[in-house]
Amino acid sequence: MRSLLFFAAALGAAIPAAAAPLKVVATTEDVASLVREVGGDRVAVDAVARGYQDPHFVEPKPSFILLLNRAELLAVVGRELEIGWLPALVQQSRNPKIQPGAAGYLDVSQGARILDIPAGQITRAMGDVHPQGNPHYWLDPGNGRRMAQAVQKKLSELHPADAAYFASRYADFDRRLAEAEKRWDAAMAPYKGTKIVTYHRSWSNLVDRFGLDVIGFVEPRPGIPPSPAHTFTLMQEMKRAGVKVLLVEPYFDLKTPNSIARETGAKVVVLPPSVGGAPAAKDYIGLFDHLVALMAAALGGR
Ligand SMILES: [Zn+2]
Repeated sequence: MRSLLFFAAALGAAIPAAAAPLKVVATTEDVASLVREVGGDRVAVDAVARGYQDPHFVEPKPSFILLLNRAELLAVVGRELEIGWLPALVQQSRNPKIQPGAAGYLDVSQGARILDIPAGQITRAMGDVHPQGNPHYWLDPGNGRRMAQAVQKKLSELHPADAAYFASRYADFDRRLAEAEKRWDAAMAPYKGTKIVTYHRSWSNLVDRFGLDVIGFVEPRPGIPPSPAHTFTLMQEMKRAGVKVLLVEPYFDLKTPNSIARETGAKVVVLPPSVGGAPAAKDYIGLFDHLVALMAAALGGR
């Protein structure tokens, strides 16, 4: 009995009790998915914005402040995507660990390839234009890889004892993503150069990746609702260019897109730009599987 107790004590000393999972809050479900990919069971992740919501506009709730108050890491999309709602929540959380610049604050855009960086002066007349470029950059799988790398680096910094675990989880994600990219590139290859129109400027990285050509937006300027004059001009351009597909994010009113479709013969395709925006888009790779299937069907006239 005594030797057994001694053995148990020795074992206990040799194998330290597993550390509690790191509490992570991600601003969107896309970032949350990438943190889960890399962090596995060593992280407990909550997302603030739901995938079916417009990430520019999130209604603050007391539950978000509570989540942020307890967080050990806050991972953000950055590039001003969350500028309308996150700063006040972070301030109200009174959590010094996750304030911008603190060790528990991670902007996953740092290594990403960012498009639409405006040249020259930005004015209000330009609409919701972001000086740090297009904040919808996660819609390029190459950027998903770079975001996951940033997550791996930060998690290893916060929990060095698990660095090897995070490295192997990242390597596995990287391998699965590379396999999936081959499948997405093959499915989209026939549609290179196809002209499309989108509602908001959410798809710059996605269309760049797959070689589509966006000739216009339903919004006259980013974040500005459709106007009759702009819609009229857009329809003329769509008819001239033979545009057959109009991509709309799930949180916009379909009234204008539907009337544009009736007038031009284009098809309205509602595409979720985020994980959780549709049941099939349950994680980062699943999101692209879903997007590519919907886009290939629409562009192929199916
Ligand atoms: Zn936007």
